[in-house]
Amino acid sequence: MNRKYRKTVIAGNWKMNLLPSQVKPFADALKSACGKTKHCDIVICAPAVIVPAAVKHFKDSRIAVGAQDVSEHDSGAYTGEVSAAQLRDGGAKYVIIGHSECREYHGETDRAVNSKVKLTLDHDLTPIVCVGETLWQHEAGITLDLVRAQVKSALYGITAERARKMILAYEPIWAIGTGRTATPDQAQYVCSQMRAVLREMYDARTARAIPILYGGSMNPGNAAELLAQPDVDGGLIGGASLDAGKFISIIQAANQ
Ligand code: PEP
Repeated sequence: MNRKYRKTVIAGNWKMNLLPSQVKPFADALKSACGKTKHCDIVICAPAVIVPAAVKHFKDSRIAVGAQDVSEHDSGAYTGEVSAAQLRDGGAKYVIIGHSECREYHGETDRAVNSKVKLTLDHDLTPIVCVGETLWQHEAGITLDLVRAQVKSALYGITAERARKMILAYEPIWAIGTGRTATPDQAQYVCSQMRAVLREMYDARTARAIPILYGGSMNPGNAAELLAQPDVDGGLIGGASLDAGKFISIIQAANQ
């Protein structure tokens, strides 16, 4: 973390879990524990159908609500999709884009990621753009090539001023939901290289300003060490965000 230049963000990704009726007890636990945690922004990314309940129950708290995906189209005949304008009007403030599960199961391409980022920024939502390599790519030693290409294409055609409103997340796919975590050194190295790409695309000021999160089996046992890395500005947390106690412990680690 480097609080001098950028904010720390702890974002939960509930994936396809919980019911609207289960949000209140979780929100109550989180709100009472997070009142004094001033050093990081806290986000819960919920399924679109749960966003309204989450907005209602996190109202008047430090916890913002996000969605987990958004349409690459602005509006119109796209049955089943949810637009950036609809999410914003429904009270969401953030959207995860390019999550490996969307890339894999919904065929989300780099081009679609770029369109979604642009629309999301147009509608005053903060995109949390995920990049990361598969196990095969990790073992083949091509992580940096892949991650650099994903960052470049996600930000293609976006001005520095707009890029400074974004958040990036390095999520090695082999670490998502597997219990296997990148070492702090690995996470730091890839995040620092992502920041180098931002410097090449824009300038030092922009590269310094954009938070880069780590995601992949972050939990209360490994959070502090990962978050102590200078280019790791927070976490995107799946499994552990479904347990209020574990999520609160990670938030506390980010407040040290
Ligand atoms: C994720 O879904 O973005 C994620 C990082 O999941 P987990 O924490 O369960 O690995």
